[in-house]
Amino acid sequence: MKGSCRCGSLSYSLTAKPVVSVYCHCTQCQRATCAVFVSSMHYSPSAFSWTHEAEVTPIEEKIDGCVLYRCAKCRTCTASQMSDTQNWAIRGAHLERDEDGKIINWEEVKPTSHIFYGNRILDVADTLPKWAGFPNKSTRLD
Ligand SMILES: [Zn+2]
Ligand SMILES: [Zn+2]
Repeated sequence: MKGSCRCGSLSYSLTAKPVVSVYCHCTQCQRATCAVFVSSMHYSPSAFSWTHEAEVTPIEEKIDGCVLYRCAKCRTCTASQMSDTQNWAIRGAHLERDEDGKIINWEEVKPTSHIFYGNRILDVADTLPKWAGFPNKSTRLD
């Protein structure tokens, strides 16, 4: 699968299934994106690689526990790498679409739970498990 920033100058490819795929309702994601919640996927280091032109250099921003990579043009936070596991985190919104606007291979990568659901802005009436914090490490809310 492929993904890119808003303007398309920063891009990556993914060659395996995500190790984690969730809908995140945390306040960090809400504030960073202004979305009510985001789809977030983690990939092992070997599954992720940048694919943009060599002269494109992402802006690196070190925050608590990870490094964010922003596009120098559109400033989109396009991917981040965890300091502990070296896993890469990306957002579903950045993944490549087909001509109908659907994310390619969505069924293989789509989230399997809601996390930080206690911070939600919107109630979600689906059948996925909903956790107060991280999956299996916090109270299940629904
Ligand atoms: Zn960009
Ligand atoms: Zn979050």
